[in-house]
Amino acid sequence: AYTAPDKMTANGHFASAGQNGEANFENGVQVIDEDKDFKQVPDLSKYLNYTNVSHSGFNYHLISVFGSQSTGKSTLLNALFGTDFSVMSEAERRQTTKGIWLSKNKSTQANMAENILVMDVEGTDGRERGEDQDFERKSSLFALATSEVLMVNVWEHQVGLYQGANMGLLKTVFEVNLQLFLKDRKSTSRSLLYFVIRDFLGTTPLQNLRNTLMQDMGRIWQSLSKPPGLEKSSIDDYFDFAFTALPHKLYQPEQFKSEVAKMATRFRDGHRDPRRDALLGEFEGGVFLPEYHRRIPADGFAHYAEGIWDQIVHNKDLDLPTQQELLAQFRCDEIMREVMLLFDETITPFETQQADSARTGAAEVIPSLGAAMRQARAEAIKNFETEASRYHKGVYQRKRTELEGKTDARLKVLLSGQLSAAHKLGVQEFSDAVSGAVKAGQKKGASYDFAEIVREQTQVALKRFESIAKEAVIEGVSWSDYKQVMVLYQKDLDKVSGQLRRDEMRRLATRVERWVRSRLNDSIGLEFNSLGSGRSGSGAPEHGEKPTEKGIWDRIWNLFTATVQDAEKRFADRAASFDASAEEVEVGRWRLRRKSWAVLRSKIDEEMMEGNLLLKLRENFEDKFRYDEAGVPRIWRPTDDIEGVYTRARESTLTLIPLLSRFRHSESGVPPPLDRWVGPTPAAATAADEEDLTPIGGVDEEEGKSLEEETTILNEAKRQDLTVRFKKAADGVYVEAKRSAIGGMTQ
Ligand code: GDP
Ligand code: MG
Repeated sequence: AYTAPDKMTANGHFASAGQNGEANFENGVQVIDEDKDFKQVPDLSKYLNYTNVSHSGFNYHLISVFGSQSTGKSTLLNALFGTDFSVMSEAERRQTTKGIWLSKNKSTQANMAENILVMDVEGTDGRERGEDQDFERKSSLFALATSEVLMVNVWEHQVGLYQGANMGLLKTVFEVNLQLFLKDRKSTSRSLLYFVIRDFLGTTPLQNLRNTLMQDMGRIWQSLSKPPGLEKSSIDDYFDFAFTALPHKLYQPEQFKSEVAKMATRFRDGHRDPRRDALLGEFEGGVFLPEYHRRIPADGFAHYAEGIWDQIVHNKDLDLPTQQELLAQFRCDEIMREVMLLFDETITPFETQQADSARTGAAEVIPSLGAAMRQARAEAIKNFETEASRYHKGVYQRKRTELEGKTDARLKVLLSGQLSAAHKLGVQEFSDAVSGAVKAGQKKGASYDFAEIVREQTQVALKRFESIAKEAVIEGVSWSDYKQVMVLYQKDLDKVSGQLRRDEMRRLATRVERWVRSRLNDSIGLEFNSLGSGRSGSGAPEHGEKPTEKGIWDRIWNLFTATVQDAEKRFADRAASFDASAEEVEVGRWRLRRKSWAVLRSKIDEEMMEGNLLLKLRENFEDKFRYDEAGVPRIWRPTDDIEGVYTRARESTLTLIPLLSRFRHSESGVPPPLDRWVGPTPAAATAADEEDLTPIGGVDEEEGKSLEEETTILNEAKRQDLTVRFKKAADGVYVEAKRSAIGGMTQ
């Protein structure tokens, strides 16, 4: 869209300066070309960068120059600002290309404001040539919308010629000014009309010329048809005035030069002085009053200028507030993009890292993530604020909120990733640490304090989590909090320690069960062994009443319940040190009783295995048969009542079979109170607690097995079989005794 590079202006400037690189900027930049096209935004932007104006914020100034063609405007600008605007050559007297050019002040004169940008409007004088008043009007509007100072160049001899071309131009300026402010009544922005009276002879005092010009302008203002609402407005509502007279450049070159140098010093920052009007342009402060400034940040100027020109060229009503808002939106978005690029540089690697660990499932806490997040966020906001806060306040605030939304949405994800990694790792580490400590305790064999281990490791785990979480949050940001997550974390730790405690309880229960098994193995074994001794009735050497065969089940039940009670106490004591709850202990006890019963039952079954039992019966019988009441072995003689002894001993032993067949109280003949002793299933027992338990008849009703059945050790068939086999064995003993009696005789 650039103009062809070979398109040269009359005095050799490229029409589109800058297009062939920065070197061409030496001559300024064309803002509007002769076709009224604003094609030069990139160039204007580049030019402002090239001249280091872009980052000056509001610290720059814009001056435009007006006046009839060939009144030495460009010549004056070049003299004042060291610029290189094209000047009509003396020889040719031919009009240069139309358009608006912009150049930065290059004067080395001291006391000038920084970053003065000068716009030179080139064009045909429509009034004189009867053509193209359109461009004049449009360029005036453009200059007014952007410039703080409008220089009006007039020949001294034209002052007071109300019909002169300059007055026509001023009328245009005032008209477009009213049009401009129709939309922008709230704006306080004013402009300075700076009259430069050329070819000043010095015969008429400047004061008089000023008065004449002011009267003329008053008249022009009066003649304007003002838009509704502005009928009573005064020219002073919009403009300040300043005047300078300059001698003829060609006839009085030295004076011209020194007056121009004097004039140049006025282009500095000023302030409103009540005496200003009285000072007649010889004012003390500079011409740049803050209220003249259009408040377009330098980095947005190119875009703004384009928007303004676009509106002007399409004959739309120029609405500066809307233009400023549009500019603010455009620039804030641009600045946001730049700011986010920087933000991305810091944040994206973390996001990638988190995504990677999420994919592999390995939780990972990123060190110093919080510091990086805080810095990236603060930097983004600060950078945005620095650049964007100069624009329309409402837009800036909105965009700032948008930026925070963008950064925070991503930081939030990072934070929650970090917290959930800390959570996951923390729970794992906690579980490992507790299990490790338990194992170490077990190895040492000493009784370790499980509850203490859990307490210690919980503290460690909470501290570790909190330090990661504290590092990761951003202070003063409402979403950035870890307290809720920490509550969940603590709950999970409790869950884990609860599970570990249950494991620990199970281990304890297993140990206690083993202890019960070994105790019952000994004591119950002893009880059954005593059956082998038909005379004593019991192996337990006891004082007082002699244990009877009949009382075997009473003794077994008592032994059993005492052993289990003992075990229960051990269990409860140890469990209390785990911080186990009363319910958990209750469940443990209940399980222990049930399991102990199973142990007892299997021990009984083992003793009652056919071979074992037959052996016991035989021993019992032999004891009764072969020994007398005093325990002395009998030597059978043929005269002895072998048959009588045999029958008594056999019958006595045979009574053991029904006795042993059923676990019954010796006196009442009822089964042991197994159901009451085991007790009902505790409310706290879970399915897992019941899973590995053997059903007990009479206790677990659904089993359809009664307490009687549960406590029946030998069924009828077995009893009969046993009886037959025992009798055979007894018969054998008898026969042998008989033989020995006869044999003793023959010896
Ligand atoms: P512009 O069209 O207003 O920009 O005028 P230029 O700066 O191109 O100058 C037009 C002509 O006026 C040139 O030939 C200049 O040499 C001449 N000129 C420049 N300064 C003065 C001056 O102070 N007095 C007079 N009478 N002519 C001048
Ligand atoms: Mg010119």
